[in-house]
Parts: sequence; C-alpha cells; structure tokens
Amino acid sequence: MMKLKYYEIDEDKILEEAKRWKKVAIKLPDGLINYSNKILDFLNENGIEAYLIANSCYGACDFVMEEMKDAIICIGEAEMPYLKQDKISFIEARYNFNEEILKKTFPFLKGNIGIVSITPFIHKINDCKKFLEENGFKAFIGKKSRRLKYNGQIIGCDFTSAIEIANKVDSFLFIGDGFFHPVGLAVATGKEVIAINPIEKKIYKKEIEEMKEKILRQRYAIISKAMKAKKFGIIISYKIGQRRMQLAKSLKKSIEKKGKKAYLVLLNEINEKINYLGYDCYVSTACPRVAIDDFMRYEKPILTPIELQILLGKREWKDYEFDQIL
Ligand code: SF4
Repeated sequence: MMKLKYYEIDEDKILEEAKRWKKVAIKLPDGLINYSNKILDFLNENGIEAYLIANSCYGACDFVMEEMKDAIICIGEAEMPYLKQDKISFIEARYNFNEEILKKTFPFLKGNIGIVSITPFIHKINDCKKFLEENGFKAFIGKKSRRLKYNGQIIGCDFTSAIEIANKVDSFLFIGDGFFHPVGLAVATGKEVIAINPIEKKIYKKEIEEMKEKILRQRYAIISKAMKAKKFGIIISYKIGQRRMQLAKSLKKSIEKKGKKAYLVLLNEINEKINYLGYDCYVSTACPRVAIDDFMRYEKPILTPIELQILLGKREWKDYEFDQIL
C-alpha cells in the first residue's frame, strides 16, 4: 500500500492497470495532487511511461474528451458505474479506521439509523452497520444509483442511497470528512444528521444544522438577487458526468416563456470570467456544487435549476432541494 496523506492506495492495482497500456495519464483530486510525482516516480521505476493531467478533478464525473487520448488512472474517487469505460480506471483512496470509534456517536443516536458514507471511508460501511446492530441499534443502508458504486455512498450531486431509506429512519449517521455531504444530506432528506469524522475522531451535529440554515439563507438571498435579471446564461458542461443539455434547453424555454432572455453558454471550468460575459445571472446545469460552494467568488448570481424554478414561480421555497444529477 502506498500512503498519500492519511489515505492508502493500492500500488499493486495501479501497476496492474498501468501495465495494460503503453502510456498512461494519472489524475488526482486537489487534496492529493501534490503526491503526483510520487506516483509518477513509482510508475517510471516500473518501466511505465506516465504523465499527470493537472486539470480539474472534482469527481468521477470530471473528464473531457481531449484528456482521453491515453488511458487514465484516476486516483482517489470511486468510479461512476454508468460512465465505465475501459480506458479510465479508478484506484480508490482508503482511510482505515476501527468501527469502535462509532461508540462516540451512541449518545446522539435515537431510533432507526440510516448510514451513509463517502469514498475514502465507504469500504467500512458494512462493518459499521454490524457494529451498531451488535450494540442494539437498528441500522439501514440504502441502495446505490447508477452514479454510485456502493450502497450507502453519497456524492455531492446524488443522495439517492439516503433518500431511498429516509422514510424508515429517524436520523442519519454520516461517516466521513468535510461538511458539504452531511449538510446536503440534511437538506435532501429533511432528517437530523450526526456526522463522525474518522480522521479527527470528532462528532458534528449542531454545526451541520447551523451550516444548513446558513446555506439556505444564502440561497434565498441569491434567488432574490437574481429576480431582477433579464439576461440569463445557462451554463452547460462537456465533462462526461456533468452533461445535461436537454435540461439546459428546457430551462432556456421556461425563462423565455417569462419574457426574459436566455442563452446557452458552454463553460467546462466556471471561473471569474462569468462576471464579464454580459449576463445578469447564470443557471448551472454542470456540477451542482458550483453554485453552492463558490458563489462568493462571483459578482453575478449562479442558480441551480431548482432555484430557477423558484425564481420563475414554478416551485415554492418550502420545497427547496439541492440539485442532483441522477
Ligand atoms: Fe462531484 Fe460535482 Fe461531479 Fe457530482 S457533478 S460527482 S458533485 S464534482
């Protein structure tokens, strides 16, 4: 096993994949990209010609055609089964922990518990379920969708495995790091979320609720700001797991029906450029996280398709949801 930060990756698997090709490219998420030379050295020492693709790598969705000239080994994420192709392989990063750390969550758990997790921790989800059950809890793991490799896995744009069991659980236990996923989970299911971060060995509950409220207030303010917009740019992406052209076209029509102007804008990397492209507001059909995570970086509001429905009066604020690509 090769150690990258706190994570482990299976170097034998990397080599096995790489040996299938004459030349390979590697891709890593920002959090691991500074280890790229370690992996390239390893491949070179084993006689493999390899190079780094340093373009964005936000998820298993994030590939564009021009990167796919050579075979790609993507390190970190789990693959999206419906996008599977021979030339792209995924070697997941794993963080190994003992499920006994869940003892810390016991005082917070009540009733039936839904368990969800994300890539570096998901391999332990069945052990965690078993551990909760041995300690008297009733635990559930929801089924995966076509974009998810594992039952119980969630990603920033797909909460299917949680929504699927939401009506039979009282709260969710999120096993993983960061806040975006547990906050998204709380918005997507309307249930209480208890998060345990196995790296920090810390529990978060109040923080998730506070962050959820803060994000909802921000989204309400952004929709209100966008109400004045007359010219809308509908952002479309050519990244293989973010293409939603049909949706973009139908959003364009609904905006035009309200007497406003709408234009399709192809933009694979959303950046400050949107401030001077001449549109008053954007609707992103690309990664749903962009509008939520990065809105402070831009003067112009970026809405999700669901937020556009609210702006156009087709959905009520009380029915707010995070955008998902399903
Ligand atoms: Fe992650 Fe966004 Fe890709 Fe979904 S679309 S997998 S949230 S980067």
